[in-house]
Amino acid sequence: MTSTGAAFDVSRVRRDFPILAQRVHGKPLVYLDNAATSQKPQSVLDALASYYTTENSNIHRGIHYLSEQATADYEEARSKVRVLLNASDDREIIFVRGATEGINLVAGSYGKSNVGQGDEVIISAMEHHSNIVPWQILCQERGAHLRVVPMNDDGDLLVDEYERLLGPRTKLVSIVHVSNSLGTINPVRRIIEMAHSRGVPVLVDGAQSAPHMNVDVRELDCDFFVFSGHKLYGPTGIGVLYGKADLLESMPPYQGGGDMIKSVTFERTLYNDLPYRFEAGTPNIAGTIGLGAAVDYVSSIGLENIEAYEHELLDYGTRALSSISGLRLVGTARKKAGILSFVLDGVHPHDIGTILDSEGIAVRTGHHCTQPVMDRFGIPATARASLAFYNTRQEIDALVKGIDKVLEVFS
Ligand SMILES: *Cc1c(COP(=O)(O)O)cnc(C)c1O
Repeated sequence: MTSTGAAFDVSRVRRDFPILAQRVHGKPLVYLDNAATSQKPQSVLDALASYYTTENSNIHRGIHYLSEQATADYEEARSKVRVLLNASDDREIIFVRGATEGINLVAGSYGKSNVGQGDEVIISAMEHHSNIVPWQILCQERGAHLRVVPMNDDGDLLVDEYERLLGPRTKLVSIVHVSNSLGTINPVRRIIEMAHSRGVPVLVDGAQSAPHMNVDVRELDCDFFVFSGHKLYGPTGIGVLYGKADLLESMPPYQGGGDMIKSVTFERTLYNDLPYRFEAGTPNIAGTIGLGAAVDYVSSIGLENIEAYEHELLDYGTRALSSISGLRLVGTARKKAGILSFVLDGVHPHDIGTILDSEGIAVRTGHHCTQPVMDRFGIPATARASLAFYNTRQEIDALVKGIDKVLEVFS
């Protein structure tokens, strides 16, 4: 059944994801843990199998047939990602293990060469631990300070406070595009503009935006952008760091090893050109090709269609959950993506998760790698349903029924 406004048929889309047809504890699987990782369409599974079946080989240095094939497919995936993000050059697309490694790369390379004693790095109150800890490590090492943009009770960032934090010692802003625990869509375009007016570069953590909306890095004018393949319906262990070429050119290597060099003697090493300078060692070739297939897949559906459909589902879910007495949504920002974090009066989130699981419903419970967000709201944890374009209203209805069951058990 197609929802109004959706430009695709969700039941057809679901057939592309074999795992969704499974039963769990005898019930149809209702997979609502997409912010932790998303499921993979058959085309991605096929790309992985086909790579290992027909062209497995190491890339870039081989002159034999298989190596040339693998290299071509690996580099084609880079071009697909470049188009997805609307970057201007393949050299600006660095393959990394995931969003986490992308942020660590920027902290370890750009950060170490630009952040010194007394300098400041700005992040927000709703960052994933992956966008907190690398900056803490850097600041500790450098005697620099981490500054945190606060948010209000809805989970909206206080942009005026952010503007006040931007100062002469600010060396970098690193900000999440879409919060994984609250769903807030941050006004990153404005945040970037304000930083740039003071000459400060901005990293955008796009782990939760790239899979769910059109991202145009040139329109955003962000300096760095990271996302993870496994949340964009691709394999684990592969992700992307986008960086503006002139910034990447100016940065020292993050890791040393094969592929990132032009020549090595014991006296001196000449580093390779972009993007290879930041891709030391044999990369995740299969994962990269799988990510390329995932990019093809989402592009064939259209990220604007995905966003519109998921938004409708979010509205439906928000209305449905809000009508449950004793349930409180955590994260009610004005602009939100498909995240429904909630707590139930008198029930520990872990118990919610366990009972829902017995109904075949997969949600995540805990702090979602955003402990400071839990502290901000004075709660230990939430239960979180996170949506993807293959989810349906029927699945939201199943969630509501499941929550009713939890309430019965604990009444
Ligand atoms: C998942 C996530 C990360 C970390 O991604 P990894 O794939 O674990 O590297 C960072 N930021 C946000 C907002 C996330 O949701």
